[in-house]
Amino acid sequence: MNGLSEVLTLASFDALRGKSAVITGSTSGIGLGIAQAFASAGVNVALNGFGDAEEIETNRAEIEAAGVKALYNGADMTKPDEIKGLIQEAEETFGAVDILVNNAGIQHVEPVEDFPDGKWEAILAINLSSSFYTIKAAMPGMKQRGYGRIINIASAHGLTASPYKAAYVSAKHGVVGLTKTVALEVAEENITANAICPGYVKTPMVEGQIADQAKAYNMTEEEVVREVILERQPNKRFIDVDELAALALFLATPAGRSMTGRAITVDGGWTAR
Ligand code: NAD
Repeated sequence: MNGLSEVLTLASFDALRGKSAVITGSTSGIGLGIAQAFASAGVNVALNGFGDAEEIETNRAEIEAAGVKALYNGADMTKPDEIKGLIQEAEETFGAVDILVNNAGIQHVEPVEDFPDGKWEAILAINLSSSFYTIKAAMPGMKQRGYGRIINIASAHGLTASPYKAAYVSAKHGVVGLTKTVALEVAEENITANAICPGYVKTPMVEGQIADQAKAYNMTEEEVVREVILERQPNKRFIDVDELAALALFLATPAGRSMTGRAITVDGGWTAR
């Protein structure tokens, strides 16, 4: 133990200045919040995801105004070649992908016997397989530079299940398995892999689920929030995107170098039950 100043240096976000990050699905919600937080800490960011072109450009320009480089690449996370192209463009533009946040995700809520095949395939591709392809593409550069932080946004549903979410729960459990495997493979290389497992965060994805579940359970949207969605979340409030962004930043600091292969919950106690 060296003293407080050494501890604060280890955990300081200053160490991140000049690094570069790719954040998939960062045109909205959690991904956008994490991208903005990394940019505030001096990290160049590659944005990705779908949405209104003008809005995406406004977000990109605002991030660049923080004094970092920011690019947007619209790679579709169901397409392995486009995913490779995203990592390649970030490496060419910034010189490195030091931090990889696999965040893109979609949801569909329906009983298993009615669950559309196409939705199953899309959720597995976007929520799970895309992380395999980004990690595979980014790993050689991380190994070469001797630093890497892989942060997979899984879910409390990576550790526990809920009815009507067969594809999402399967994919998120898969993300936790992928995280552990990659962590073991590169544990000696100053590359870590962790999964952040949030409870409910009020983003466009959850707003969609409130409406879907109101239909599935034949309830009003207010009843769904109180009795279904936050029923299992003991703190009884939505998680803030900033709480997840702060954890992602911490994992990228030197203080996070021995934290690897874990599913870290930010779920108000949901999975403590
Ligand atoms: P969101 O809908 O606000 O954002 C999802 C992002 O993924 C968007 O940028 C969207 O454009 C992008 N995306 C979707 N399909 C894509 C594709 N084919 N290719 C590229 N990008 C694509 O959702 P969010 O709530 O911010 O979710 C982000 C992540 O957090 C997801 O992986 C989700 O499963 C996870 N998560 C969310 C919650 C929550 O309560 N909101 C809880 C736990 C985990």
